[in-house]
Amino acid sequence: SGPAMARLVASRVLDVPDFPKPDVLFKDLMPLFADGVAFRAVVDGIVEHHGRDSFDVVVGIEARGFVVAAAIAYATGKGVVPVRKAGKLPRAAYAESYALEYGEATLEVHQDAFTAGQRALVVDDVLATGGTARATLDLVERAGGTVAGFTVLLELSFLGGRERLSPRGVHALLTV
Ligand code: AMP
Repeated sequence: SGPAMARLVASRVLDVPDFPKPDVLFKDLMPLFADGVAFRAVVDGIVEHHGRDSFDVVVGIEARGFVVAAAIAYATGKGVVPVRKAGKLPRAAYAESYALEYGEATLEVHQDAFTAGQRALVVDDVLATGGTARATLDLVERAGGTVAGFTVLLELSFLGGRERLSPRGVHALLTV
């Protein structure tokens, strides 16, 4: 259930102050990934929420999104499409840049990553300002896919990511 999922995530996240820089409270989900029972429960919970027939492929955002995406894909017999940081993909790619607190970041996806209209379930570990997510959802659509859903394990609601993604929705297992 939703509350049980939220409790599970809450029990397996560590708060790391001032990482990767001062005044950032980093939410470390490695304890969740490392716990086989909890990790499987979370993966199954995400699949159950969206429904295994609602998507054709799973998109993971580098790097922690890859962990969750691969597990969901394996559990449902689907494939994985990685959205990567600039310069990592070997073939022709679309790029989307977005503002960070200081400077800019770029994400990329292969131009042939999706067949036309292929339905993508997009996953990441943490939704913060939503810049990463917005760029990723735009990339999926530019590459010819459709966004079947977007799930994060943890949403930091005070950073306004959900508003930034509107009218697209986001499913969060835990919102703080
Ligand atoms: P944003 O684009 O601001 O929503 O940032 C989301 C991306 O950065 C995700 O891929 C997260 O893994 C990572 N991230 C941002 N802020 C945090 C945080 N406080 N704790 C853990 N990961 C974070």
